[in-house]
Amino acid sequence: MRKVLFLDRDGVINNDSGHYYIYRPDDFVLNEGFVEAMQKLALAGYEFIVISNQGGIARGTYSKADVEKVHSKFLSLMDDVRISILDIYYCPHHSDFEKCLCRKPGSLLIEKAMARYTIDANSAIFIGDNDKDMEAARNAGIRGIRIKSNQSLITILSELLNGR
Ligand SMILES: [Mg+2]
Ligand SMILES: [Zn+2]
Repeated sequence: MRKVLFLDRDGVINNDSGHYYIYRPDDFVLNEGFVEAMQKLALAGYEFIVISNQGGIARGTYSKADVEKVHSKFLSLMDDVRISILDIYYCPHHSDFEKCLCRKPGSLLIEKAMARYTIDANSAIFIGDNDKDMEAARNAGIRGIRIKSNQSLITILSELLNGR
């Protein structure tokens, strides 16, 4: 059975302090401990999927192309350390402009990933840094672990590796 970690992006993977939106590759900086934690989790058999709200697209602050550039940087950083990322899903909408089911706390993106990759809810965990992430996890029927924004994932490694 596939073990999957769903990861929020900003504040979990990369440092978002001082930024409301991150859409320039130069502003995309991995959080401390991220690579080390991911390497250990990969060794333990976890696979990784990113689920991110990118409402700045709907706001017109940046474009899908900007998001793709940031994701290319992320994937190339991961490639450098031989960590593979199964997929990246993001919602380009914003509730101020249009309703959608994919923006967290909506669980559509998680559910799409679960269907596409045949992921069992019992063997998936969502790591996020805010209420919307936790609610999305709950809506998808998977366990959520909330960290503080930009907290090192090293601090929750034992919880992830030894089960609850
Ligand atoms: Mg976040
Ligand atoms: Zn959406």
